[in-house]
Amino acid sequence: MSATNDTATQFDVIVIGAGFSGLFLLHRLRGLGFSVRIVDKATDVGGTWYWNRYPGARCDVESMQYCFEFSPELEQDWNWSERYAAQPEILRYAHHVVERFDLRRDIQFETPVETATFDEVNSRWLINTDAGVEMSARYCVMATGCLSAPNTPRIDGLDRFEGALYHTGRWPHEPVDFSGLRVGVIGTGSSAIQSIPVIAAQARELTVFQRTAHWSVPARNRPLGEQERGEIKARYPEIRARAKKSFAASDLRVNDAPAARASAKEHTALFSEGWEIGGFAYMTSFNDLLFNADSNQVAADFARAKIREVVEDDEVAELLCPKIIIGAKRLCLDTNYYQTFNLAHVKLVDISGAPIEEILPNGLRARGTDYELDVIVLATGFDAMTGALLNIDIRGANGASLREKWQAGTPNFLGLTMAGFPNLFAINGPGSPSVFTNMMPAIEHHVKWVAECLCYLRDHELSHIEATPEAETQWGKHSDEVAKGNLRATIDTWYVGANIPGKPRSLMPYIGGFPLYTEKCQAVVDSNYAEFNTR
Ligand code: NAP
Repeated sequence: MSATNDTATQFDVIVIGAGFSGLFLLHRLRGLGFSVRIVDKATDVGGTWYWNRYPGARCDVESMQYCFEFSPELEQDWNWSERYAAQPEILRYAHHVVERFDLRRDIQFETPVETATFDEVNSRWLINTDAGVEMSARYCVMATGCLSAPNTPRIDGLDRFEGALYHTGRWPHEPVDFSGLRVGVIGTGSSAIQSIPVIAAQARELTVFQRTAHWSVPARNRPLGEQERGEIKARYPEIRARAKKSFAASDLRVNDAPAARASAKEHTALFSEGWEIGGFAYMTSFNDLLFNADSNQVAADFARAKIREVVEDDEVAELLCPKIIIGAKRLCLDTNYYQTFNLAHVKLVDISGAPIEEILPNGLRARGTDYELDVIVLATGFDAMTGALLNIDIRGANGASLREKWQAGTPNFLGLTMAGFPNLFAINGPGSPSVFTNMMPAIEHHVKWVAECLCYLRDHELSHIEATPEAETQWGKHSDEVAKGNLRATIDTWYVGANIPGKPRSLMPYIGGFPLYTEKCQAVVDSNYAEFNTR
């Protein structure tokens, strides 16, 4: 389906990205009377769900909660088929949203943005695309996604591989047939853990190259019946309200008591229950698992025992048992991941402490052994949170560069704005809860905040808003404060930029939880944007 053929280049708002953030922004802002244009480099909508088409890709937030709340009619009309929706179904939902709210006419595809420059004289953002086209808008909103710039590791010989090479985050649109092929998967994070069982079902041989064993719990995915869906729909307002009062903006079974004060019998009972429920409920079995190292250890030991129960080869089981804190790296949810390693044609190669030496034309060399491969799948993740933003050369007041501003960290205010970058907003930017939460309520909250802010400016005949440096400093201090004592801030993860060589280390997502965060954002609105300079 075609996008806009309108050749206008001047707008109130330009939104970069046609994922769920961009789509809701367009709908909301257009409804408020702003002229809006979305630009996206993809050929269609969907953002994350456009690019991540790898086998087994599925959202690990429950589908009934991983969807928009802003339209009760949409909420009631759409029928999710499974507890956790697979990528094609989520993409169908995105298309449904587009058609239902007639969004396509304001979206421009195949338009990679190269530069975004603030024109101080006219208080407008100038957006330049790869085709040299210049567009301009009073406001610019980066809806570029947290996990959208793929990380392709620098391994010698990668460009000389003669077989097929795929990155999970840039999967082809045509189905890939692995039948009869020898496949190597590099990486064992969420994308790998979802795709490995599906690839194994087709491939002649599958070799998994594991640098770090990640924690995974059973998803317990299943079809959703008419009755269950109906019951959830009937209670939607209550479920959504409860979700927004929780740390991760998800309505999960929660036990608000510490493991540190529970007996061994209670540990077994609660962890068993969480394991059986499936998904993130395992980590909410007690309230101190991410704050108390001993409690975390109990959760980890229970989960390791579960892995050992499944994996038949003791040596493989030990390699698959993570040694890291459970829940500090993003927890993975799987369907038959550990069972896959019981299949005779699936091998696990431990590359911890010994990087892959070289990609060969017909395979790869690791730990002195050559592995012949027809296909290599890079499940190597993303340059998270900042990657997609910094791929664009963003210049604010006085020509200041965001790349320079973020050289040693990600100073920001509320994860929505940056001092020195007037009239620029980021949806789920570094400094906001984003990846620590269910993305859909996080997106809705940010979009509504931005929309309210733009209406405030219009109502007060203002056309310029910029966070003060003091507000930014205070937000940084507060963000550091709430991170204290949280085990997630203590280890090397993509949350702190550790997966990208040379990337500055700082905890990028806000870790104070969704309720505290939304309270802080509301206080700024209630103060009539006192932490901003406006004119
Ligand atoms: P990831 O969690 O960053 O995992 C990347 C994997 O590649 C890790 O095992 C990493 O090892 C490995 N790796 C990276 N560079 C390597 C190299 N040079 N040599 C060997 N191994 C290398 O990436 P992801 O699995 O794509 O997931 C990223 C995030 O996307 C997730 O945490 C989640 O937030 C989101 N996601 C969500 C879903 C879902 O909703 N179901 C699905 C997929 C992804 P190390 O651990 O040793 O660095």
